[in-house]
Amino acid sequence: MYRTHTCGELRLANAGQTVTLAGWVQRVRKMGSLNFIDLRDRYGITQLVADEHSAEVNALVEKLGREYVIAATGVVAERQSKNNKIATGDIEIKLTDVKVLNAAVVPPFTIEDNTDGGEEIRAQYRYLDLRRGPLKRAIELRHKMAHEVRNHLSNIGFLEIETPYLIKSTPEGARDFVVPSRMNPGEFYALPQSPQTFKQLLMVAGYDKYFQIVRCFRDEDLRADRQPEFTQIDCEMSFVEREDVIQTFEGLAKHLFKSVLGKEFTEAFPRMSYADAMEYYGSDKPDIRFDMKMNTVTDMLQGNGFSVFDEAEYIGAIVVKGCAGYTRKQLDEITEWVKRPQVGAKGLVYIKLNADGIKSSIDKFYTAEQLKVVADKIGAAEGDLILILSGAKKKMQGALGTLRLEMGNRLGLRDNNVFAPLWVCDFPLLEWDDETQRFYAMHHPFTSPKPEDMDKFFSNKKEDLEQVNANAYDFVLNGTEVGGGSIRIHDSKVQERMFEVLGFSKEDADYRFGFIINAFKYGAPPHGGLAFGFDRFCSLFGGQETIRDFIAFPKNNMGRDVMLDAPSRIDNAQMDELFLVSTAKTEE
Ligand code: ASP
Repeated sequence: MYRTHTCGELRLANAGQTVTLAGWVQRVRKMGSLNFIDLRDRYGITQLVADEHSAEVNALVEKLGREYVIAATGVVAERQSKNNKIATGDIEIKLTDVKVLNAAVVPPFTIEDNTDGGEEIRAQYRYLDLRRGPLKRAIELRHKMAHEVRNHLSNIGFLEIETPYLIKSTPEGARDFVVPSRMNPGEFYALPQSPQTFKQLLMVAGYDKYFQIVRCFRDEDLRADRQPEFTQIDCEMSFVEREDVIQTFEGLAKHLFKSVLGKEFTEAFPRMSYADAMEYYGSDKPDIRFDMKMNTVTDMLQGNGFSVFDEAEYIGAIVVKGCAGYTRKQLDEITEWVKRPQVGAKGLVYIKLNADGIKSSIDKFYTAEQLKVVADKIGAAEGDLILILSGAKKKMQGALGTLRLEMGNRLGLRDNNVFAPLWVCDFPLLEWDDETQRFYAMHHPFTSPKPEDMDKFFSNKKEDLEQVNANAYDFVLNGTEVGGGSIRIHDSKVQERMFEVLGFSKEDADYRFGFIINAFKYGAPPHGGLAFGFDRFCSLFGGQETIRDFIAFPKNNMGRDVMLDAPSRIDNAQMDELFLVSTAKTEE
């Protein structure tokens, strides 16, 4: 037997027992005639001690190095100096025997909660990084989440059904990863961007409650913290309306909050329309952990001869509570910040509501009385700071939304231990793209228009189509979109119309999506669903910004697995077999 207990298990109540533990040597410390070892496994750390009475054991201990795998036998004893930071901190094992199960070369970084290893080296030795506490806790949390998802959804009648990975393209707005087919020369599979079409076909097949914790693949330029392969909790239901779907998955989210974090939500999650989200938060995924809503002040501030404002399509303001005392230097710095290309404002106007009067960067154009009227209207009081951006509406709403988040950060209003879920609804169905002169589906082409907008959807006028709302909803948590879905089109004519609106020719739509248009002719039930981004859900539950720690073997932000050094070249023979042109041959 390699071990009688784990390294996280023993307590004072075990004192006097002879035990054997197995694990990795985290550290060996010599103190006088005593040798201490921190032994680690998945469950915790236990202190081992070799005392002066056993020369034999001490000789063994002195040969140990970091990360050696050992089995250690001894007697559980109360510790002299207790360590209340670890669960086993009241005891230690007085060693009687040590066996080396495997030696280890010196690891490239220290394997402790606070490590000296940089990101790159830890990624390269991921299996060593995974031994560290923070990663272990993240992976455990992920397991717990997955387990609770399965528990809850199975309990309410959902079936977990797997769908294939080698498929034909499913459009979700990204590029497909493709896999060449050796048996079908010149043809390719696509890896699923999501199981969207399959889950809808399962509805046609009558499996009215489906879910799957499933890998999805999207070949996108990787923005910060995106992974080319990621996991969704993918769900679909039949005979449902929007409300049914929202209720069902609000139930799942509440179950997860409670079972994983012990947080109880008794009230319904708030809901917001897309239009309100844009107007008050400048984002389709508002962070409502803090207030600081945006105010449209265009009418209030135009017509005073300040050309920047007079010429602006939009003027928006946020009230930053209690910050009237900001210095010139601080305000200059925020002004520089909003001018960064990622934010995109041309400048910033401020109004300080000091106890001794109003001070602003537009004093030349507005009297204190005029500014006071504006301040009153937007709920700013003495001691507050008003920040104003102006310009093109869409762009400046976005910029002000970004500034709002930044001020929230600076004021510590975005606490990762606070959870503010939100449903955002009533998205536009279509987005016009000036460059390509065509509509794109804002969600995906299977999302149905709202029933009341169906006439407009069949209209040929661009203005009508622009006004069609989607029967779609997003689940937002702390300013991050964690889930999204919709009621689907289930009528083949409406689906054909959608492809037409999106600019597919009849032949092209048939070639790519004939299978689903056809399936809808054989009795498709009304259906809808959603998918949660599982990695992101886990990282938010874990209070972390990055999803990478919640994935055992993630890619870096160039889409590379630096541990495997993938992607990598394949040899010419393999290229030939797949009917790919080998670069070597082209160069000849
Ligand atoms: N397939 C969609 C996505 O990946 C989710 C859904 O509509 O259910 O975003």
